[in-house]
Amino acid sequence: MENVLRVNMGAKGGPKLTIEPLGEYTGLGGRALTSAIISKEVPPTCHPLSKDNKIVIAPGLLSGSSAAMSGRISVGCKSPLTGGIKESNSGGQPSQVLARLGYAAIVLEGKPESDELYTIFIDKKGAKITVDNSLKLLGNYDTVARMKEKFGDKIACISIGPAGEMRLPAASIAFTDMELRPSRHAGRGGPGAVMGSKSVKVIVLDDTDLPVRQPKDPDKFKEANKVFIEGLRKHGVTGEALPAYGTNVLTNILNEAGAYPTYNFKQGTFAGASKISGETEAALETERGGAATHGCHRGCVIRCSGIYNDKDGHYLSKQPEYETVWAHGGDCGIDDMDKIAMLDFLDDNYGLDTIEMGVTIGVAMEAGLLKFGDADAAINLIHEVGKGTPLGRIIGSGAAVTGKVFGVERVPVVKGQAIPAYDPRGVKGLGVTYATSPMGADHTAGYATATNILKVGGYVDPLKPQGQVELSRNLQIATAAIDSTGMCLFIAFAILDQTETFQALIDLLNSFCGLSFTANDVVEYGKKILMMEKDFNIRAGFTKEQDRLPGFFKTQEVAPHNVVFDVPDEELDKVLNW
Ligand code: SF4
Repeated sequence: MENVLRVNMGAKGGPKLTIEPLGEYTGLGGRALTSAIISKEVPPTCHPLSKDNKIVIAPGLLSGSSAAMSGRISVGCKSPLTGGIKESNSGGQPSQVLARLGYAAIVLEGKPESDELYTIFIDKKGAKITVDNSLKLLGNYDTVARMKEKFGDKIACISIGPAGEMRLPAASIAFTDMELRPSRHAGRGGPGAVMGSKSVKVIVLDDTDLPVRQPKDPDKFKEANKVFIEGLRKHGVTGEALPAYGTNVLTNILNEAGAYPTYNFKQGTFAGASKISGETEAALETERGGAATHGCHRGCVIRCSGIYNDKDGHYLSKQPEYETVWAHGGDCGIDDMDKIAMLDFLDDNYGLDTIEMGVTIGVAMEAGLLKFGDADAAINLIHEVGKGTPLGRIIGSGAAVTGKVFGVERVPVVKGQAIPAYDPRGVKGLGVTYATSPMGADHTAGYATATNILKVGGYVDPLKPQGQVELSRNLQIATAAIDSTGMCLFIAFAILDQTETFQALIDLLNSFCGLSFTANDVVEYGKKILMMEKDFNIRAGFTKEQDRLPGFFKTQEVAPHNVVFDVPDEELDKVLNW
């Protein structure tokens, strides 16, 4: 994994591919690499859809190896949704495959002048780019089916749907799972729109005949992997709850905690929660011949995913995750699991971020465009986005734009990005992360729910302001480092609680890469990434005024605890200062 594939889409005479060594970026992977390239090579004030922006797709440092859980991939760009730097993370097979092909990153840069649509194919012989206009405005599922017909089923795909081609700020990039379904997405922040602006529809990867990446110290690596897997299997969250019920196990938990945003963040509990809980979802999946436990890539041992079939036993979507079920469910007052799974499929097929779409529909409901609880109207609205009607383009521009267009005050966004499934008044540590992460509102950037609600890694009272800044800061630092390894973030539950599992992770990194990192070095690595990202945003024009939650969180109490977000602004300004 020593090369970078650069594709200059704006080269004279047509797109030009260059393979070059990692050079100054050596030692970086995943988020560290995407943020370093964007920070150094993209002018922070450029238009996100201009030739100056880049899309960087980078497997983690351990991807392509036999380390468990190492198949996550990072996508970096200047975000069309937030205007700041973006790292959007996805599961699926492409991370492992791209790493085995020897690439630390693919960089799409420049901008073609023609309106041709391109396909990039990469295998052990190299990379080539061809025009394929027959793919125009195809959904992700049909696009991948075409690639399967053409290249066989030993491939992995990275693609955009119509939303990306239309350059909508909520557009995602899809990554195929082990069954070659485009069901995993780098959704947050609109990276699909940037890929669309480069006119690349799909990148096809084929690692046939290529071996697993080998560690520098095989014996130590093998032992560390064993301890790491044992640690994941024995922890209650990674060994039991997530495999059995998926991430949607959180619906009942957040609802009971009174931090489940309902009816566009009006209240903290939802009467229909049990109908769309992880327990209900898993039972339906099993009953209909789907699967309640499933891994999104080879080497996942937690297997938090699943297969959701319709009433007739046909595939409808992958198991919709907690944040998706919440966004299209409780936030919109919808308690019909089949309709939510359909919305999940439509988002995946059109290539849209499920969180942004659900929150946007909630805002549209608040505006009176459709009624809370009307699932069929929500489905129609997503079709409008996929078809690119004027209304659809407004909705596909996300919650902030939709709130402005329809004159709504309660618009839950930070830096223009929709706030996910945890009310910041009821999980205050996460409120701090939403406000201060360089990514905009993003639960994965510093997942304080772990300590605030699940009591993992200690306990900080979710309803009090004290201790939240330190909690969020530590989690943001740790997350930036984990996002660079290719490890799924869900390993955090086990490594926060079990020192031997944390040590096993460090041993995995050291034995694989030939390093001698300590826990402190990992912290410094995470800090450096965050500093690069914060610095990019400052150069793009961001000030501390953007590190705030919308005003209504400070003035409107949320039931049942009747609390507001009361972490002082001066405290928020200290989060990324060390
Ligand atoms: S735990 Fe879930 S999200 Fe993480 S790698 Fe496994 S299936 Fe994918």
